[in-house]
Amino acid sequence: MENHLKIIKGNMVFAPSFGQLETLANSYVIIEGKKIKGTYRELPAQYNNLAITDYGDALIIPGFVDLHFHAPQFANRGLGLDLELLPWLEQYTFPEEAKFKDNAYAAEIYKQVVTELWKWGTTRVALFGTIHKEATAHLMEMLALAGLGGYVGKVNMDRNSSDSLLETTEQSLADTEDFIKNTIDRYGLVKPIITPRFVPSCTGDLMSGLARLAGKYNLPVQSHLSENTGEIAWVKELHPDCLNYANVYQKFGLFGQQPTIMAHCIYNDAAEIELMAKNKVTVAHCPYSNNNLASGIAPVRKLIDLGVAVGLGSDIAGGHEISIAKVMAAAVQVSKLKWLASDKKAPFFTIPEVFFMATKGGGSFFGKVGSFEEGYEFDALVIDDTGLNVSTINRYSLAERLSRFIYIGDYHNIVARYVAGKKMEQPQF
Ligand SMILES: [Zn+2]
Repeated sequence: MENHLKIIKGNMVFAPSFGQLETLANSYVIIEGKKIKGTYRELPAQYNNLAITDYGDALIIPGFVDLHFHAPQFANRGLGLDLELLPWLEQYTFPEEAKFKDNAYAAEIYKQVVTELWKWGTTRVALFGTIHKEATAHLMEMLALAGLGGYVGKVNMDRNSSDSLLETTEQSLADTEDFIKNTIDRYGLVKPIITPRFVPSCTGDLMSGLARLAGKYNLPVQSHLSENTGEIAWVKELHPDCLNYANVYQKFGLFGQQPTIMAHCIYNDAAEIELMAKNKVTVAHCPYSNNNLASGIAPVRKLIDLGVAVGLGSDIAGGHEISIAKVMAAAVQVSKLKWLASDKKAPFFTIPEVFFMATKGGGSFFGKVGSFEEGYEFDALVIDDTGLNVSTINRYSLAERLSRFIYIGDYHNIVARYVAGKKMEQPQF
């Protein structure tokens, strides 16, 4: 009976709500297909005859969610990070992305991207591709082969780009629709997402056309919002009739008509934040990138207090770290700078708070993902932190062990990975 069930045993740690950490020592999770049927401290008698995968003293935590990652910028990690956003885009990003018209080059880079995501325990990811529909579809195929879940977007840009990346409005929309048709039902947990790069590189006609496609195919949207003061001034110049940056996306139908991720959101005013909360926009907070490109410190506590959902993003290659654990630590660190800058008024983040953002906070964009509550898809990392123990005399609590893994652990500690109930083996490309 009930042979379709999977039982896993270990020390479960997860964050069911912002700031709350749930720890279940030596407990059981029962998985039916993709989903969690329940977690139990004692195994209910009716499951006694089933095989148990016992991870012993390991920690079992929800898989990490990365809400913002530019896959084609992988080879640029650690380059040009002594610049600000706009010259960095011009000098480093656009020339690298232009190379992805060559499918062989794209395949070489993307297989490394997918392998690294797997390695560092990212189980769901929202990726930007490039303007090239074939290479971007190939990225989706590789993610699906690796068993990861994600949204992947063909990038759109019909103004203010380099010559080698510029599309006409018509071509950009036609290629996007081709890309959607080819990929929408093909790659399981990996789905297309509408991806205008940002307002400066998309005309109003392109944004309206993309909003139509989002509605027609019922697809979510991802883009950038209020990352850098120079960028914001440029948007004001391009759209003097719009009240603010968020209002430009709203005007052209891209803001919150479908589930939407906006990366950065550092300088939004109260009206924009209200608009975001009302339109169910999820913010991708990217602390490394915001530091590297001197963009600023996002007011994440304020966004959350005002009802905006927030997840974390590596923002490769503005950010240099793929590890969402490291991004969590960075999120705490920058929140402390914010705290100091606010005369200690805006409280900095706790580990349970950033752990929530890295799991259920970002995961909610993918449905019931990022927690070990009943009905959630079972995305999990099994963490063997034996090597992080200083001595057998030190006995850390489960919460302390999580904190130590976040700050001083790495991929060597991740000994098993699950996405939607399925164990993911190392990708073989
Ligand atoms: Zn970005």
